[in-house]
Amino acid sequence: MITTEIGKARTLVLANQKGGVGKTTTAINLGTALAAIGEQVLIIDLDPQGNASTGLGVGQKDRSRSSYDVLAGEVTMREAARETAVPRLHIVPATMDLSGFELEFSQHKDRAFRLRNAIAALNEGAEAASSYTYILIDCPPSLNLVTVNAMAAADSVLVPLQCEFFALEGLSQLLKTVEQVRVSLNPKLTIHGIVLTMYDARNRLSGQVVADVRGFMGDKVYQTIIPRNVRVSEAPSYGKPVLLYDLKCVGSQAYLRLASEIIQREKALRAA
Ligand code: ADP
Ligand code: MG
Repeated sequence: MITTEIGKARTLVLANQKGGVGKTTTAINLGTALAAIGEQVLIIDLDPQGNASTGLGVGQKDRSRSSYDVLAGEVTMREAARETAVPRLHIVPATMDLSGFELEFSQHKDRAFRLRNAIAALNEGAEAASSYTYILIDCPPSLNLVTVNAMAAADSVLVPLQCEFFALEGLSQLLKTVEQVRVSLNPKLTIHGIVLTMYDARNRLSGQVVADVRGFMGDKVYQTIIPRNVRVSEAPSYGKPVLLYDLKCVGSQAYLRLASEIIQREKALRAA
């Protein structure tokens, strides 16, 4: 049985070792949607490319305290967290330094737990009362030590899958990694859900992929499907989540629905 501690942030990791499936877009826009409905949200950017940071308007010069510095133990998570243009949404930005993490820390005993320890410290001390209710971790397109840190720190994994022919390819490897992390590092880790992204109603293949993924993963697949929407892809170049760029577009509306669906699942878990 899954138990959740009241008052502690729910930590969800966006993971898929494939690139370009919508991890970062979902981190930014789900984070914004959760904040819009009143949650206190922290996004931790763990991809050395730093796309979540850029997409939330945090430029290179504003990354003097980064997620790498947190993993390295040089600053606390709270010191590295920055405000964004979205009320109640903070981000710990990423820099290229992260790409050296695996090699640099391979000999450290706590190498898989550095993120978990940094997040645990957020829930301690006098500031804990004003703490985050959701932490979203954006992962690199790889099952490396950085991603393992994210899974070791998380309550649950949220998997974005692009509605394309090879959608399911790689999913079993990902599920196997989640299982290994659960067995060896983090017994409470669950799969929160699968979010289908970039759905194109004009393309029959998209519909087929939805049916296949639902057939394979059942009700782990969220009801909400994120449509392919040009407003979603334009927004990052303005350093804005799509909800700030064009609240009425179908992409924004889908991310708002996904946020309420996630909150509903969380309520069900808490009641269980
Ligand atoms: P990942 O983080 O998994 O590598 P991204 O979130 O960066 O994937 O998405 C890959 C590309 O697809 C980006 O250019 C992004 O703007 C675009 N994209 C993501 N979701 C959508 C969507 N719903 N509609 C249109 N373009 C999208
Ligand atoms: Mg990304």
